[in-house]
Amino acid sequence: MKSKIVEVKESNIHNRGLFALQDIDEGRLIIEYIGERISKKKADLREVENDKIGVTYIFCLNDDCYIDGKYGGNESIYVNHSCEPNCKVVRKNAKIYFYSKRFINKGEELTIDYSYDKDSKKELCRCGSRKCRGVINEV
Ligand SMILES: [Zn+2]
Repeated sequence: MKSKIVEVKESNIHNRGLFALQDIDEGRLIIEYIGERISKKKADLREVENDKIGVTYIFCLNDDCYIDGKYGGNESIYVNHSCEPNCKVVRKNAKIYFYSKRFINKGEELTIDYSYDKDSKKELCRCGSRKCRGVINEV
């Protein structure tokens, strides 16, 4: 089922982003993050290649399973990072979902906090929020 509450458009944060096509209430399921399910070992190998091109769609489900939205993914791969996001990541029943964290106005870009590991390579953040950490990593 194709979601009608969001659309992909040019983003001020980074390349393309996902935007609300209508007002969205707090706590609503926006989209499921789908893709190929891979092991941590395979994810690590792919990240080496992804680092070279500077883009990755690998999302951590848990220590043993990662989801690579590059293969079989949907519009959820366009959700950008913000240090002050309007969506939250919910992992349940071995799946990853994005829910609205607050009321979202029609036309707003949807964002989540990627929370990259603080020990992994630092990625600069340009989210522009008042609470910006300067990096996408946790600090
Ligand atoms: Zn930021």
